[in-house]
Amino acid sequence: MIRPGTGFPTDKASPRTPVAHDRDEVVRLAGSAPSLDHLDGRSSVCRACPRLVAWREQVATEKRAAFADQTYWGRPVTGFGSHRPRIVLVGLAPAAHGGNRTGRVFTGDRSGDWLFAALHRAGLATHPLSVDAFDGQQLVDTRIVVPVRCAPPGNAPTAEERDTCAPWLGKELGWLLPTTRVVVALGSFGWAAALRALRDNGVAVPSPQPRFGHGAEVALPGGPTLLGCFHVSQQNTFTGRLTEPMLDAVLARASALAAT
Ligand code: SF4
Repeated sequence: MIRPGTGFPTDKASPRTPVAHDRDEVVRLAGSAPSLDHLDGRSSVCRACPRLVAWREQVATEKRAAFADQTYWGRPVTGFGSHRPRIVLVGLAPAAHGGNRTGRVFTGDRSGDWLFAALHRAGLATHPLSVDAFDGQQLVDTRIVVPVRCAPPGNAPTAEERDTCAPWLGKELGWLLPTTRVVVALGSFGWAAALRALRDNGVAVPSPQPRFGHGAEVALPGGPTLLGCFHVSQQNTFTGRLTEPMLDAVLARASALAAT
C-alpha cells in the first residue's frame, strides 16, 4: 500500500498552476477558475495569508513525533467528495496534524474519526475511518468543504484570513449548488461561512441572519436547507456537548431532506 511520503493523489496543482499571494489574487484566480478541479489546484498552492503559510509549513517541517517518518502535505486543503453532491458539510479549517498532514480534510485526526464514522453509519461514506489520502475513502452524494483552507494556530483564523479565503469557497459552492439540497454547518464559524457563500451565489438569506444552533434548520428560498450541528472538535465530543446520537440525528435529517 502506498503510504504518505510518496506523494498525494489529491494534488491537482501543476508547476504551471497560478499562485495567489494576496486577497486580490485569490479573488481573481477563484473567479476565473474554469472548473472545480482547477479551483482545487489553484487553492492548493495559495500563499495569500502570510501567518498561515508560515504556520502550515512550520508544522510540516517540525511534525508530531508520532508522524516523524511521514511527509506532511503542508499546503491548503481543498474540499473532498462528490462534484455533484446533494449534501455539503461546511467545517472550519484543516487540523495541523490532520488535514495539514494527510492532504485531506478531516483525515488523520480525532475529529475526522468522529465525522467519518457518523457519515459511514448514515450511508454517506464508504468506510468508517479516514486515515490518509490513500485509504480508498469515498463520500456518497456528499462533499466536505472548509471556509479556511490552511491550518491556523490554535484552530483560530483571524477575520482577515477568513475573508481572504472566502472567495475559494464561494466559487466552489457555485459549482455545487445545482445539485445541493442540504448544507450542514459544523459549528458557528461554518454556519456564517455557509450563509456568506450562499449569499454570494445569489441565494436569498433572510435578514436578520438566522442564528446558529445545534439542530437549527433553515429552508432558504430557492436554495438548499441549512442545518446546524455542533462541530466535531474534541472540545465538543470529549465533553459530551456533541454525542454520537446527536450527530447521527443531524445526518439522518440531512439524508431525509436530500432524498426529497
Ligand atoms: S487560508 Fe485560504 S487564502 Fe489564506 S493562504 Fe490558505 S488557501 Fe490561501
